[in-house]
Amino acid sequence: MGIEIEFIPVGENTKNGDAIVVRYGEEGNYKIMVVDGGTKDSGNKIVEHIQKYYETIFVDYVINTHPDSDHASGLITVIEELDVGELWMHLPWEHSSKIRDLFKDGRITDNSLSEKIKASLNKAHQLYEVACEKEIPVYEPFEGAVIGEFKVLSPFEDWYINYLLPDFPNLPERKEQNVVTKAFSEAYAKLLEWIDETWDKETLSENYDSTGPRNESSVVLYANIDDYKVLLTGDAGKQALHNSADYAESLGIDLKECNFVQMPHHGSRRNVSPSVLDRIIGEKVPEGTKPTTTTFVSVSKKTEDHPKKVVVNAFIRRGAKVCETRGATIRHHKNMPARTGWTPVTPLSFSPDVEK
Ligand SMILES: [Zn+2]
Repeated sequence: MGIEIEFIPVGENTKNGDAIVVRYGEEGNYKIMVVDGGTKDSGNKIVEHIQKYYETIFVDYVINTHPDSDHASGLITVIEELDVGELWMHLPWEHSSKIRDLFKDGRITDNSLSEKIKASLNKAHQLYEVACEKEIPVYEPFEGAVIGEFKVLSPFEDWYINYLLPDFPNLPERKEQNVVTKAFSEAYAKLLEWIDETWDKETLSENYDSTGPRNESSVVLYANIDDYKVLLTGDAGKQALHNSADYAESLGIDLKECNFVQMPHHGSRRNVSPSVLDRIIGEKVPEGTKPTTTTFVSVSKKTEDHPKKVVVNAFIRRGAKVCETRGATIRHHKNMPARTGWTPVTPLSFSPDVEK
């Protein structure tokens, strides 16, 4: 079997999203999977891409990793324009009765909470509605679910419903706040200070604030296609990635052996730490070692903040070759036909100074 993983560009300006197309299998019997669709514009690009390069209008699996609009919007176009076998996404509005008691307002009903959740996630909810109209079966991707050759490593259902969902933004006030919720303000957006790094001096910290609960709820996907191992992370954060590594370990899977790993959350430094990367990429290797992992990161054309150099360095230091979209489609393939006119991507290089 072969596999190809293609990152379609999202965002003309500075807003990042994901739009990923995966095809695997044997010639004449390929499966196609779309993981997140970016914006409406990148959704159109996915539709064109599948028709042009895969010469079909059928997609076996569509997966929405988490309900942020820059991951979900384009999928609405995908399911409107193409024939889709299965849609996998979380349906947080269907879990309101299980979490209602966690909120301060005693008058809140299952229904009103459910409506609040829908309103706060309108693109994802719209995606669900279009799928229902088109009678596409919808399943929730929790730990252990199997989607074709892929397995869901995170989130596990109890964590998602009882710990992440109640802290999603724009929901009513909680009786008690979970520790993970903090205001993620501009503090991290504008970083003007720089610090030196070398191969042996890593400044990436274990202790940055974690990414928000909506990102942590991202579906983490793993596949082993004829001994070629792939990890897709969405916007998953440190906790989700540690949970993924734990769950993989319980199945006898070592994520360090992955040949392809998506850099989570467009290269934000709140999603990874040295201990996370040691588990999903591997420990540091001597400088000059040939890379053994390919890493793709989706960033918009004009963003200057992503991917963080401190994160790129940390991946490179652990034996990853890092490539970014930045307005272009990038393709990784193993045992799949070459595509005429496509040229190799230039990987990012190690930076001598990084964000302080
Ligand atoms: Zn994102």
